[in-house]
Amino acid sequence: MVSQTPALGSLLAEVEAVLGSRGGGALARHLKVLATALGCDRPPVWDDPSFVVLLAISLSPRTAISYQTLDPRPRWHYIYQYLKSLTDGGREELERVARLLARILDAREKDRFTVVGDVDRLLVKQRGQCAICKLPFHGTSAAILQQDPFRPLWHAPFELTRPEIDHIEPVGWAGENQFENLQLLCRACNAAKADGVRIPLHREAAIAGLSVDCVPRIHLFRLLVWLASERKGKCEIGGCLDRELTIRLTRPGATIVRANLRLACYECSPVQSASF
Ligand SMILES: [Zn+2]
Ligand SMILES: [Zn+2]
Repeated sequence: MVSQTPALGSLLAEVEAVLGSRGGGALARHLKVLATALGCDRPPVWDDPSFVVLLAISLSPRTAISYQTLDPRPRWHYIYQYLKSLTDGGREELERVARLLARILDAREKDRFTVVGDVDRLLVKQRGQCAICKLPFHGTSAAILQQDPFRPLWHAPFELTRPEIDHIEPVGWAGENQFENLQLLCRACNAAKADGVRIPLHREAAIAGLSVDCVPRIHLFRLLVWLASERKGKCEIGGCLDRELTIRLTRPGATIVRANLRLACYECSPVQSASF
């Protein structure tokens, strides 16, 4: 499915026409600062949706960002008032810009709603499991049921097993949300991925000698995400696919470093038979 965002290019050509005509004015300067902050040589970069949304946000007051659709006043009105305090532009000109910026903010929200609606489709596509660790979002997680020390999730199972939307290929925070680029992750995998899947060696070495109960949860989450990605989600004991995954040491008493870990499902290696 393609993002519902209307053609921003044409919207922005209009914004540019209006702002551009105010060469040297407060808004033009603002644009330039924004472009510099985003690492662009020159404003504007109309083909970058992140830039476009950030531009709209930076030129709008907070009342326009947190706008409620039941508000009797139109969104652009708040932006217009704000722009008026920024610049001495003419009424018609500012109203036109304010309306365009409001449309960009509207389009951004429409994109967000599309994502929310995609959750059900993703649940079906992923058979109700986390895309990385295969934890079931509904039903019983073996990690929780067995109180797996490598998956310390049972402290707040409802919180940690709630599906969260992840962009497979990271996009700018204001980027487009194409269905093909979305997946559902459990809280643990999402937190680990958001933190960056690279695990610094010095960090791994500092933690390796601890008993599993003392290892920070986020570190365990990251180890599993790393291992699941390396092994392409396949249990290394029985070659199982599509079963909830965890980490197991390759031999009892080994230190918790990636070289000593393997990816396992709970049927091949339940907690009671695993040796830590
Ligand atoms: Zn997960
Ligand atoms: Zn298995």
